[in-house]
Amino acid sequence: MITRISHWIDGRVSEGTSGRTSPVYNPATGEQSGEVDLASAAEVSDVVKKATAAAREWRSASLSKRSAVLFAFRHLLQEHADELAEIVTAEHGKTLADAHGEVARGSENVEYACGVPELMKGGFSEQAATGIDVYSIRQPLGVVAGITPFNFPLMVPLWMCANAIATGNAFILKPSEKDPSASLLIAKLWQQAGLPDGVFTVLQGDKEAVDALLTDPGIAAVSFVGSTPIAKYIYETGTAAGKRVQALGGAKNHAMVLPDADLDVAADAIVGAAYGAAGERCMALSVTVAVGDVADRLVEAISSRLPKLVVGPGNNSDTDMGPLITAAHRDKVAGYIDAGASAGAKVVVDGRQADVPECGFFLGTTLLDGVTPEMSVYTDEIFGPVLGIVRVDTYEQGLELINSNPYANGTAIFTRDGGAARQFQFDVEVGMVGINVPIPVPVAYYSFGGWKASLFGDTHMYGPEGVNFYTRGKVVTSRWPDPATSSIDLGFPRTR
Ligand code: NAD
Repeated sequence: MITRISHWIDGRVSEGTSGRTSPVYNPATGEQSGEVDLASAAEVSDVVKKATAAAREWRSASLSKRSAVLFAFRHLLQEHADELAEIVTAEHGKTLADAHGEVARGSENVEYACGVPELMKGGFSEQAATGIDVYSIRQPLGVVAGITPFNFPLMVPLWMCANAIATGNAFILKPSEKDPSASLLIAKLWQQAGLPDGVFTVLQGDKEAVDALLTDPGIAAVSFVGSTPIAKYIYETGTAAGKRVQALGGAKNHAMVLPDADLDVAADAIVGAAYGAAGERCMALSVTVAVGDVADRLVEAISSRLPKLVVGPGNNSDTDMGPLITAAHRDKVAGYIDAGASAGAKVVVDGRQADVPECGFFLGTTLLDGVTPEMSVYTDEIFGPVLGIVRVDTYEQGLELINSNPYANGTAIFTRDGGAARQFQFDVEVGMVGINVPIPVPVAYYSFGGWKASLFGDTHMYGPEGVNFYTRGKVVTSRWPDPATSSIDLGFPRTR
């Protein structure tokens, strides 16, 4: 049965009117499971008007009322965790355990936003000049949009909407058209939590909807997470239309392994971070920089672990790694392995030859040794279960390699030397750093974001920077003078 997947507008499911749709697949079976509506520019314009009206009301809701809605929403996410994880697994393909991790980490962003009364506190300076007080407040922007990728259909929308709504904005989500269903359950849970209709909207769509959101004068800000070329386009188009934009892009995350590292710890961590979610994470480790004489031992330790990983449908409890998102993406990843082999990389473990289920978009794990910086397996974000080993002689060479990469999302170092780890933290030009931690996604009370081609804009996502992104500052200078002392003064106001 093919389910129609529609928009969520004004507190209910709303069928699209554009006549355009896109197929949604179950990647573990390869079969079409849904057909998602794709919004037209006219539908976008209509929804933005509705959201504008809702935003006007919502910004008047007291901080404690907003906090109560956030607490209720967080509770509902936990109650519906199984259902949410099943939806994610059915359309994305990741394992249920991994999907539960996504629910848990996304819920932490909601927990952070529950503290909105504290987060929205301004400053107050009594007697900034004689009889004059100065204070700062932060106010919502109005209607803000979130455009999200396929690889975290639940967590990335929660990165955005929790803070956006808590700070008093209306939020329009444009999910990935590849796995759009989780967005509709999020919408229902917001409603059950007591959020007024119209404050959270889901608009399904593709480039046409995105382009309309980027230029609609009713949208004040756009948060984007996706690939680098689209992130750059979103940033340039949105800012040219006068909007505040944060656009997080792709990645090529390097792990550096020093000769003194605990090999088992490093190999376990690298295997988890390279092949978890079939490598379809923006924080996946796709390159390992082996320093000095650690390389042979490390390749052996990683390759000996790979045959034990079970590749299969994400809803089987013994599966370690699920399928890729589409057949086309699976073939593209396999093409990178072909290109790596042709360019001279040694295929130590070959995912193309792996014994994987025939139906569905599966590919086994691949380990390439002797990868060099000019190979496409090194230069491009593959976004699949492929790990490349680059061998270098020294820490300095490894650092130079990482710092000259155009991407700078995450990185990790594996060592038992605290001084070396601290030097790496100091030297490395990457936004998120792990020290013996392979996937250093910051907790919800810090902010998430890479550097260079991994982020366009000034503000990282969620945490304190997320609160700043969705609000603007206002500073008030006030006095209550005795009318008897009033006089005309043409001089510039002085404070002393
Ligand atoms: P994508 O860039 O193809 O799509 C992301 C969003 O942009 C989707 O909603 C899609 O509908 C929309 N879109 C696609 N093409 C567009 C176009 N031409 N014009 C306007 N909108 C368009 O990314 P994806 O394949 O869904 O997700 C994978 C990518 O996301 C990877 O590159 C990954 O590294 C990145 N990602 C980054 C982060 C991060 O925090 N930096 C997190 C998750 C994913």
